[in-house]
Parts: sequence; C-alpha cells; structure tokens
Amino acid sequence: MSRIVAIVGRPNVGKSTLFNRLIKRREAIVDAVSGVTRDRHYGRSDWNGREFSLIDTGGYVVGSDDIFEQEIDKQVELAIDEADILVFVVDVETGVTGMDEDVANLLRRSDKPVFLVVNKVDTAMREANAVEFYSLGLGEYYTISSINGSGTGELLDAVVEALPEDEEEEVSELPRFAVVGRPNAGKSSFINALIGEDRYIVTDIAGTTRDSNDTRYNRFGFEFNLVDTAGIRRKAKVKEDLEFYSVMRSVRAIEHSDVCLLVLDATRGFEGQDVNIFWLAQRNRKGVVILVNKWDLIEKDTNSAKAFTQAIEREIAPFTDVPIIYMSALTKQRIYKAIETAVEVYENRSKRIKTSVLNETMLPIIENTPPPATKGKFIKIKYCMQLPTPMPQFVFFANLPQYVKDPYKRFIENQLRDHFGFTGVPIDVYFRKK
Ligand code: GDP
Ligand code: GDP
Repeated sequence: MSRIVAIVGRPNVGKSTLFNRLIKRREAIVDAVSGVTRDRHYGRSDWNGREFSLIDTGGYVVGSDDIFEQEIDKQVELAIDEADILVFVVDVETGVTGMDEDVANLLRRSDKPVFLVVNKVDTAMREANAVEFYSLGLGEYYTISSINGSGTGELLDAVVEALPEDEEEEVSELPRFAVVGRPNAGKSSFINALIGEDRYIVTDIAGTTRDSNDTRYNRFGFEFNLVDTAGIRRKAKVKEDLEFYSVMRSVRAIEHSDVCLLVLDATRGFEGQDVNIFWLAQRNRKGVVILVNKWDLIEKDTNSAKAFTQAIEREIAPFTDVPIIYMSALTKQRIYKAIETAVEVYENRSKRIKTSVLNETMLPIIENTPPPATKGKFIKIKYCMQLPTPMPQFVFFANLPQYVKDPYKRFIENQLRDHFGFTGVPIDVYFRKK
C-alpha cells in the first residue's frame, strides 16, 4: 500500500533537514553498511506503527536562482498530483516571501491535505513571529524546529492521522510486473513488442507516449499484469525529463508491484537515476530483473556483456544476485526471456521453505561456521524459520542475538541464496532471542 507524503517549499527553509529527521537517517546508516551513499530524497518513515513514503521534493531542484521559481511551481503541481499528503515548509526567520505565496496559491487549489509547517521555531520567542503565516490562507500551522526536533512529534501525529486508511492487503491473484526506467530507455517499445499490437505510440520525441496503465497480459502460459510507467511525460505540463517526476511515478508503480523490470539503455550505461530506481525496488523488498535494452546498437565482442554486467554489479553491491538480460525491444531479441525471468523472480519471491528443510540445511552450516564469539561469549543458534510474509524473511533464534554482526548476517543470506535460490529477490535475515 503506497502512501506518499511530499515535502514542498522554496529553497533553504529546511526541507532536507526535516526530511532527514523524519526518516531518522536510517537510510543513510543502511547505505553506510553497504558502502554506498545515494538516494537522499526518498525514504520510508513510520510513526505509531503507520508507514509512509516520504519525498523531499527540494532535492530535485537544480539550476540558478532565477529558474528556481518556475521549477518550484512545477514541483508543487506534480507533488499535488502524485502525493497523498503535502507538507509545506516555510521559514520563520525570513517570514512570508513572494515565493511562499505562489506555493500557497497552488496548494489552496488542491483537494489533498496540506500541512503548513513553520520551521526554525527554535525558541519560544519565535513562536509569536509565526502568526504572520496565517496570511497564506492555509489556516492552522504547525511550528517546529527541524534542527532540535521540537514540534515534529505533533506534526507526525497529525500527518499519520490524515493518511488514507490501511487498505486490506491487495490480493492480486495475478503477478504485477512494473516496467520502470529512465525516459527513452525503451519501456513502451518493450511493452509494445510484447503485446504485439500498436497500443502504445512509440516515438523519438520525449513526451508522446501514452498515460501509464496496467495491461493484463497472457501469452506463453503466463498471465500477469504489466504496470507501465512510460506514459508519464505526456501531460502537457511536464515537457522535459524531470527526474523528480519519474521518481515520483516510479515510487507508486514499484510499491504496487511484485517484480520490477528495470529497463536500461545499453548505449547510456547504468547511471544515477537507474541506480536510484533499483534502490527504490530493493528497499521496498520487490523482485528485480535488469533489462539491458537496445543491445542491437552495441558493437559486440566476446566481453561486452561481461563488462556491462560487472559495471552494474559494482553499482548494486552487495545485492548482486539479480538477473541481467541483454535484449532488444526493436528486434525482439530475448523479450520473452525477460518475461520468463520475471516469472522466475516472482516465484522466488513467493517461495516458502519448509521449517524442517530449512533447519536440516542451515543448522549444519552454522555448526561448521558459527558466528564469531564476541566479548568471550559464544553465540548459539538453535532454530530457524521463514516468516509467513509476502517476501522472504527469515528468523534465526539465538541465545545472544545482539552479538550477531552484519558480516555474519550476509554470510547467512548468501547461504540461503545458494541453497534455496532467491535470485532477484531481496531477503531479510533477523536474529532473535529464543
Ligand atoms: P532546504 O533547501 O529547504 O532543503 O533547506 P535545508 O534543510 O538545506 O536547510 C537550510 C538551512 O536552514 C540550513 O543551514 C539548515 O541548517 C537550516 N535549518 C534547517 N532547519 C532549521 C531549524 O529548525 N532551525 C534553524 N535555526 N535552522 C534550520
Ligand atoms: P520509453 O520512454 O522508455 O518508453 O522509451 P521508448 O520505448 O519510447 O523508446 C525510446 C526510443 O528508443 C524510441 O526511438 C525507440 O524506437 C528506441 N528504442 C527502444 N528500444 C530499442 C531497441 O531495443 N533498439 C533500438 N535500436 N532502439 C530502441
């Protein structure tokens, strides 16, 4: 279930400081473990047990001051379209500015919940200065200090209260495959080639493909829904390749999918936004297949695929157990292989290992290679099981679970992958007190 909260506002009001506080920098810590820093603008947060996706729209603004204004209006419009809740941040130090008024005008016209947040209220004295923000016509406001955290609890209480209700877990009897990737990677061409009819208009000019939608697809014995994100640029107001917009759109598509087919343009390599989208899928615990498209355009020698694979694996480490298919939507080379692989990944993700089989396999391995003793204490793992969750999660019961370190968790994960086959699927390994 995707619930998206977008933080909007002009530069320097403290959006990214607030964002970091709300995701408690957990994401950054995870990245430090894997040795990779990326994706600063999107995270998952939870408060009182309610989870939501948080987007810092400010992270996507590039350019000089004079183009800011236009960019920000555009972002706010996109955020209004794509998010469930808008958090509009203003700055008590500067007071109301013209740009704040522009943003407020756009927000007043939307029917989504808007939270006006007066930031940098670090002291009680500044509380009084906040009243001038009533002039924005957005009603009540929240005063916070993103730096010291005051007021953010009350804000979060109100935000989660306004989130759409928890829906019943979507029971889609059909696998949902999201076709994601940068503009012009060949997503519509791929879907078009699969469907074999000209339902999608494919052109060289960005912004002409159709609106995104789901297509039920059944051929070659598989039935599934394809979730297309290709058409996102058709709306007149989004003429250019705006990273922010495709990320917003991908967030939704990815969260509603079982497996993501990440389409790359072989002539452009595996770059920033590709990595970002991969990361979104991984973090949401979705299956992933990487499709290196336009392979027909590459001058091939015996090493081209190998070199490309290595370049991708460098970027996605440590989660490198991901299928990579070299294909061409144009010549249709391996397009069915792509779908077959997605089906395999789907099956891997739904795989359930019987507890007896899991213990028979894993306990001898653990016996042979136990976790290293910490502070003179020996860690004993007695029992393990797979949790009944939609994605693979395993729990290992130990006498001293707190002493099991990340390298050992990765060792266990790799053993699970080797013995049971979870290619393309992120898996979680937990250690708990028995
Ligand atoms: P953004 O451009 O809206 O993302 O703003 P940033 O989060 O980068 O913050 C801009 C500046 O405001 C930075 O120097 C922050 O340290 C500062 N800042 C952010 N939140 C607060 C706050 O609550 N109090 C004070 N005094 N400064 C803040
Ligand atoms: P989308 O924005 O990801 O949906 O990309 P499109 O499907 O619209 O493709 C962008 C451009 O790349 C179009 O000109 C396509 O004809 C071209 N294209 C797509 N797939 C291939 C391919 O496999 N080989 C070649 N040579 N061109 C392709």
